[in-house]
Amino acid sequence: MRILVTGGAGFLGSHLCDRLLGEGHEVICLDNFFTGRKSNIAHLLGRPDFELVRHDIIDPFKCEVDQIYNLACPASPPHYQFNAIKTVKTSVMGAINSLGLAKRIRARILQASTSEVYGDPAVHPQTEGYWGNVNPIGIRSCYDEGKRVAETLFMDYHRQNGVDIRIVRIFNTYGPRMHPNDGRVVSNFIVQALKGDDITIYGDGTQTRSFCFVDDLLEAMTRTMNQSGTIGPVNIGNPDEFTMLELAELTIRLTGSRSKITHRPLPGDDPKQRRPDITVAKTYLDGWTPSIPLEEGLRRTIAYFKTQI
Ligand code: NAD
Ligand code: UDP
Repeated sequence: MRILVTGGAGFLGSHLCDRLLGEGHEVICLDNFFTGRKSNIAHLLGRPDFELVRHDIIDPFKCEVDQIYNLACPASPPHYQFNAIKTVKTSVMGAINSLGLAKRIRARILQASTSEVYGDPAVHPQTEGYWGNVNPIGIRSCYDEGKRVAETLFMDYHRQNGVDIRIVRIFNTYGPRMHPNDGRVVSNFIVQALKGDDITIYGDGTQTRSFCFVDDLLEAMTRTMNQSGTIGPVNIGNPDEFTMLELAELTIRLTGSRSKITHRPLPGDDPKQRRPDITVAKTYLDGWTPSIPLEEGLRRTIAYFKTQI
């Protein structure tokens, strides 16, 4: 197949390009390089089955492909809050442009949605049937509400125009090629530990997240795209849940660092807990279940960051 990956130069997108090429597909990678990096895809340039297009998805684009993975959107809170209005445009206009293309060329299209659609969840663990607890006017809203409207657009293009859609809700995913200054917790803690800087825990560190290694995520994402049992939404993540204090202590142990833990103010609307219910994924994705525990995934991610610092 020929496959379009928007946001293909980012953390997840570049691994997805590698994977699709490895399966024998042709890949068109579209990116505006806001948070993505050429170094993530440098090894692919020059391949006859790989094409790089610098383009901003808030503007329409045309190409002939069989499938579209729509990943273009900054994902870390500091990056998506840097230009909040642009984040909304990327999610909403990017979805409209990608869906318009899918409709015209009859391509199957997958949306990289997020656990943020559940906001600060009152239901735990989160099932796809839960509608969420999202502040519409807070500092995370540009991302959360943008992604919620994108899901609405996907469902409406499906109902109204018969577009062949898939929606995955991605829970915190980490691994090699995260940007060292990304601002997300796993990359922050590893970089701080390797440099011997203080580990910055926001708030008291009792808030929880469930961390999925990138390889497990991509396996589930590509399986969702290529099955016909459900259009989604499908939660994808690793249900093992950790407090940020536990993550900090584990990172210090695995890096052998002498860094000390320090506390900073908790940012507004920071979700207190997050853990995916992955029953739907297990049911429709041929028994998929995450296979890489946090300690193993962190070891691999630490090895990557050692080459970067
Ligand atoms: P990332 O920031 O590394 O990648 C995003 C990519 O999109 C970058 O290459 C960036 O340059 C590109 N981009 C941003 N705005 C664009 C625009 N207007 N036009 C074209 N390209 C644009 O983040 P990531 O972690 O790889 O996330 C990829 C997708 O997965 C995002 O849609 C994100 O919301 C979603 N997601 C990720 C996670 C996670 O934990 N990594 C969790 C939930 C959802
Ligand atoms: N966090 C932290 N220290 C950091 C960066 C983040 O304690 O240096 C916390 C953050 O407040 C949140 C959790 O770690 O509670 C996960 O943050 P991240 O930005 O990785 O993802 P998200 O909040 O979007 O799940």
